[in-house]
Amino acid sequence: MDIILLGIQGAGKGTQAEKLLSTGNYTNISIGEMLREKAKSDEDIAFFLRGGKLVPDEVVFSLIKEKIEKEGKEKSFIFDGMPRTVSQYLRLTQLLATLEREYVPVFFEITLETALERLKGRRVCITCHKASYDAEAKFCGYCRNELKVREDDRNIDSVLQRFAVFYRDTFPVVLEVIRQGNIIFLNADRDRDAIFFELKSRLDTHTFSRFNVF
Ligand SMILES: [Zn+2]
Repeated sequence: MDIILLGIQGAGKGTQAEKLLSTGNYTNISIGEMLREKAKSDEDIAFFLRGGKLVPDEVVFSLIKEKIEKEGKEKSFIFDGMPRTVSQYLRLTQLLATLEREYVPVFFEITLETALERLKGRRVCITCHKASYDAEAKFCGYCRNELKVREDDRNIDSVLQRFAVFYRDTFPVVLEVIRQGNIIFLNADRDRDAIFFELKSRLDTHTFSRFNVF
């Protein structure tokens, strides 16, 4: 079953995605990574990236489709950071339906207090960009390179701006998912191992239904 991760910054989506990936059953759909890879051979995409412009949804979705068709027989996919809007969500679930894939959105419920605490302690690897929340750690747990505080995590305005964008653009996705009924609510206000334990057992017992309405 494919998984769509939803939640504010600091809710721990990235950490749980890493843990799922380490089980070997999943592969990550990273839009940024796919675009950077494609840009090497595609001048149109390179043009968008060079200009720092938003890549059109058509391009993004054709890349997602390509990747699922290539790797989807053996793997389930994790969507983290996409969809950001209801229109992207509807388009994504339509694509997954066309490809006859089962999926479940997981909403990471967390208090703003905990999210702010986590973002304060968050540092990012300068090489592989993975996040670390361990205040004691000096080096990245994945590639052993240096950890640094992200400029936009240091800045409260930027943190609040990202919360605002989530509630404006992405929270309506959560509401749409609730309406459709195919959702896992996850209490993400706990330590990472407790969250992972619950996430795994909830995924194991979740029954996919496209028409499962409350
Ligand atoms: Zn690293």
